[in-house]
Amino acid sequence: MRYIEPHAHMVSRTTDDYQAMAVAGCQAVCEPAFWAGFDRSSAEGFFDYFRQLTEFEPKRAARHGLAHYCWICLNPKEAEDLALAGEVLKIIPQFLDRPTVLGIGEIGLNKNSRNELAVFERHVDLAARHRQLLLIHTPHLEDKLKGTRLIIDALRADGRLEPGRVLVDHVEEHTIKAVLEAGFWAGMTLYPDSKCTAARAADMIELYGRERLWMNSACDWGVSIPLAVPRAALELRRRGHSADAVDEVIYRNPARFLRQSDKFREFP
Ligand SMILES: [Zn+2]
Repeated sequence: MRYIEPHAHMVSRTTDDYQAMAVAGCQAVCEPAFWAGFDRSSAEGFFDYFRQLTEFEPKRAARHGLAHYCWICLNPKEAEDLALAGEVLKIIPQFLDRPTVLGIGEIGLNKNSRNELAVFERHVDLAARHRQLLLIHTPHLEDKLKGTRLIIDALRADGRLEPGRVLVDHVEEHTIKAVLEAGFWAGMTLYPDSKCTAARAADMIELYGRERLWMNSACDWGVSIPLAVPRAALELRRRGHSADAVDEVIYRNPARFLRQSDKFREFP
């Protein structure tokens, strides 16, 4: 089996996790910038985090034969302090030309607040002006449907980004249709106790097809499984999906989306 892990927060994982992913057939891991579990107190904190994503993690992954890419942004959970957000938005452009940076992400909404939406729109502007791919986090549970609608409306209102260069992540049964119908890519996040299980992901693939769809583990410092993608592949095979169909979802699809950044190569 070969696969791409398109969304994993490896700064919170051990080197053993990199090794296990490589053994399971992972070819490349992509790491969006996120909330580290606590609020950073200064723009310098973000600067160092972006250095960790672009300098340290690629070296750690390479020791296990894994390519490591990342996405840069300020997470919606830290968007309430608009003065700090403004400072961080100013330092992001200097990282966009680094050789393993794929785009802006994971931006999005968390509580669907006015400040979150304002910072979301500033990131969209940055992506449009620097011609970057966009990776979008959608809120949890009861906020997800409203947040997904707000995100789609904001992207449509801006109008500068091609939907095929935007991936809306953490879709669930009640949001996947709107995302795909609007022309965006959709990501299913495999968590043991929230978001989406392997069985629910398989159901959604059976209902909506494989086009513009990927799966990720989004493994981080919380309860999550770094090998969730290959495990979901086993669930698909158990249900009778062909090896070729599974390869499309876990390898060719993410490769197709990510290759829109000329920095992405499966085997650098
Ligand atoms: Zn994430």
